[in-house]
Amino acid sequence: MSELKQDCPFASDLFLDLIVKFQKADFVDPKELNFFKEGEGLETLSCENLEQNLGKSFNIDIEKVAAVTKKKLTQRDLVTLSHIAIEMANQQTTSKKKKTKDPTPSPAKKAKSDEASSTCGSKRFKDGNVNSEGIDARLVELDSLLQSTKYSKQKTSLKSEMVNFFSCLTPSKSLADSTPHDVRMFLVHKDTKGKTQIHRATCVFRGQPGRFKCDCPVRLTAGSVDSLIGQIRAIYRDFGRGTDWNDMLGIGNPAAAPVVKRYLEAVRLEQSFSSVLPKRATPLLLDKLSVLSRHITYKLSNTHISVCDKYILLRDIVFFNLLAHTGDRAGDLGSLMSD
Ligand SMILES: [Zn+2]
Repeated sequence: MSELKQDCPFASDLFLDLIVKFQKADFVDPKELNFFKEGEGLETLSCENLEQNLGKSFNIDIEKVAAVTKKKLTQRDLVTLSHIAIEMANQQTTSKKKKTKDPTPSPAKKAKSDEASSTCGSKRFKDGNVNSEGIDARLVELDSLLQSTKYSKQKTSLKSEMVNFFSCLTPSKSLADSTPHDVRMFLVHKDTKGKTQIHRATCVFRGQPGRFKCDCPVRLTAGSVDSLIGQIRAIYRDFGRGTDWNDMLGIGNPAAAPVVKRYLEAVRLEQSFSSVLPKRATPLLLDKLSVLSRHITYKLSNTHISVCDKYILLRDIVFFNLLAHTGDRAGDLGSLMSD
């Protein structure tokens, strides 16, 4: 255990994680958690020894654990805690090691390194052989590729909007300490930017698509709210608040909290009452495609059209022909990229 300390100091965020895991481990037989073959069996140690080990090796304050979990810790509890702590510390050190190994070497390099490893009989790198600068540069390159996608740009702008909104609250909040209630407030704030009119039960325009001059509110559709919550959850996840919410401890990903799910349910219900129809694209069926294709061919037969128009028509006819023959979704085909 003392060896682990050098590799992995137990940070405060890990401490919360530990408690969550400890509470879930209530019904787990400690023997199942024992993946480790240590010189000393943890079960044989006394409470004082275990407490000391947890404190010295992982910086875990037992009194704090007892205060948060609201129970007096028995020897069995301490053993369970130790196992979870060791497991988490091991996971952290292996994930740290994995990070440096992550980039997949090119086939040629791989063959080379395989050769090298077979000759010296060990796959470990010597310290001087790791090109950490090159690896870092490659990781930055891959990260920036991810950030350049449309979805990620949307997420970045949503993130700054969230940060702005939270900072305007009293007391001001941030991504680190916002709660499910704050997330619901943000959702209501975003709702005012919607484009779908939610008619009241008495309104004469109820069930009709489009905007009318009645004073019924304009909101986001339930589908948009659903995808918005998904994006907010991803922002919190990337920020380091995990994927789940723990109501009992009040920690985790606030966008995954049950109250946020209930908000979405209520929005769905409200919109079903006001007969809001989900928008669908007009389907483009095969017979329509052949009519389109004939029309474009007819236009192309005109010898007086400009080169630019001819190019556009040719491009379109190729697209529609490809669509008709492959049966792909038009959206998928449209996002096809070429040099
Ligand atoms: Zn109305």
